Amino acid sequence: MHEALQYKKNEDSTVTCSLCNHRCTIKEGRHGVCGVRKNEQGTLFAETYGRISAEAIDPIEKKPLFHYLPGTLSYSLGGIGCNFHCEHCQNWHISRANLEGAHLRDLPPDEGVRRAVYGRCASISWTYNEPTIWHEYALDMGRLARSKGLGTIYVTNGYITEEALRELAPMLAAFRVDIKSFSDAFYKKICGAHLQPVLDSAALARELGMHIETVTLVIPGLNDDMEEISALIRWVIEHLGPATPMHFSAFHPDYKMLDRGATPLATLEKIYAKAKELGLKYPYTGNVYSDRYENTYCPACGTTLIERHGFSSRFPGLDDQQCKNCGEKIEIVRHVT
Ligand code: SF4
Repeated sequence: MHEALQYKKNEDSTVTCSLCNHRCTIKEGRHGVCGVRKNEQGTLFAETYGRISAEAIDPIEKKPLFHYLPGTLSYSLGGIGCNFHCEHCQNWHISRANLEGAHLRDLPPDEGVRRAVYGRCASISWTYNEPTIWHEYALDMGRLARSKGLGTIYVTNGYITEEALRELAPMLAAFRVDIKSFSDAFYKKICGAHLQPVLDSAALARELGMHIETVTLVIPGLNDDMEEISALIRWVIEHLGPATPMHFSAFHPDYKMLDRGATPLATLEKIYAKAKELGLKYPYTGNVYSDRYENTYCPACGTTLIERHGFSSRFPGLDDQQCKNCGEKIEIVRHVT
């Protein structure tokens, strides 16, 4: 087993993990909230290091990431476990799986990078379940990936601590973070967590130079209040910048949340219009069929820069990072640096 980073040993043989903001103190023989980090005789181990539950070559738009290496493929990996316990989790079969019951395969970091290169992917994504709890593995693979010229992506709930995020920063290029709601009460009740650490990690990721896109799954009656959504958009504009792509996605009943219907398209359209009105340059809708709201438009002249249908993209109005029509510089990463 692989010893964890980001923890301290206590005198009473408990350990305190500092990888995510739960900051679990774990007794001997027990796991933390995420279910994959275990105290064995006073040492914390990352039990899922090098063990994967899923791998795929995905269009990067599926993450969704629309302004980081658009039109490319991303080698995508998932493990098991999660530090959140969301009632509406869409990947509950892996996020709630345990080591005994899960079908896991071994994949050393260098083999993961080899598969990404062989699959003609421009990046590696740690996704499907929460990558924070895979810290040591992602770190080792990510360092190798960067040395081979690949991009690196976390699809995350943003509950990582400051110290762990700073450790990742030299290897992590893109932080696709869920901001599930702008209400701490929501985070507490639905996810078993808190809002502020998520906001703090998003702001820190930006300060550390990562590309950021946010996703908010809009759930009828739970987080679709326009005042609250407007406050979230204002926060993003102020702290992450008006060029931050924000994705507002439709909820569909899943896992333990079966008591309400899917998000109406009209709700997402209203949010899109509000985001534009508040000065956000690149709002998007998601999880719904839309022939307009997943395209990228020039914020200066309105030209269609990128057309998206499903997960495929065309670039009729974009010349590298410039609008072909008016020359406006578009905040979009086209190449791995
Ligand atoms: S990663 Fe988070 S949930 Fe898991 S043991 Fe560490 S502090 Fe607890």
